[in-house]
Amino acid sequence: MSERGEELARRLAEVRARIERAACSVGRDPAGITLIVVSKTWPASDVRLLAGLGVTDVGENRDQEAAAKHVACADLGLRWHFVGQLQTNKARSVAQYADVVHAVDRTRLVEALQRGAAAARRRVRCLVQVDLSGQPGRAGVAPGQVLALAREVAGRASLELGGLMAVAPLGADPAPAFARLAELAEQVRAEHPGAADISAGMSGDLEAAVAAGATHLRVGTAVLGARPRVG
Ligand SMILES: *Cc1c(COP(=O)(O)O)cnc(C)c1O
Repeated sequence: MSERGEELARRLAEVRARIERAACSVGRDPAGITLIVVSKTWPASDVRLLAGLGVTDVGENRDQEAAAKHVACADLGLRWHFVGQLQTNKARSVAQYADVVHAVDRTRLVEALQRGAAAARRRVRCLVQVDLSGQPGRAGVAPGQVLALAREVAGRASLELGGLMAVAPLGADPAPAFARLAELAEQVRAEHPGAADISAGMSGDLEAAVAAGATHLRVGTAVLGARPRVG
């Protein structure tokens, strides 16, 4: 195996061990947790190596880069997650290759994704992003608006409500934020039984996310290393 392949294998094994330990320590089955490796800024050759190591889900946050990698890796059968802020004018492109869009936070984006998915004759799974910071101007909807936006997604023919997504507030203990996310996710699931996804947890806080019930972890740096440029 190449040097990069060996490095990725070692780092991936460490992350998988972290997930397993975190799950076991709270009595969860690690099999119920999906690791999404966030490959933004890294080349398609890394995605190919990761697929060879058993990675099934990859995450990207820029349309142009994601679209190119999706083409370059079309033979690998991966699930593509769009995890970043999504501009409405990029929704049509993203709907052509993304299986899951994690940062749905406004009606106009729901409408644009619906149009894009319908034009591409695809179904796109959407997660409503919740702002857990309590500060205005952050990505995501306020907790009080989650159910309304979830209903909008669920009512669209080419979209599928998957559940919720959040990023822990910077510089604070992630546990209370993830607990709040889990409460909101429970409310969403009560209305939409198929919407059971909770996307939370990154390289630095995946243990807290697993403890709070996250079903999808978005991990970049811990698997691939420090990003070569700002992602
Ligand atoms: C980049 C990114 C991640 C991965 O972050 P790491 O700290 O590198 O694990 C997760 N979620 C989102 C939304 C991101 O943009």
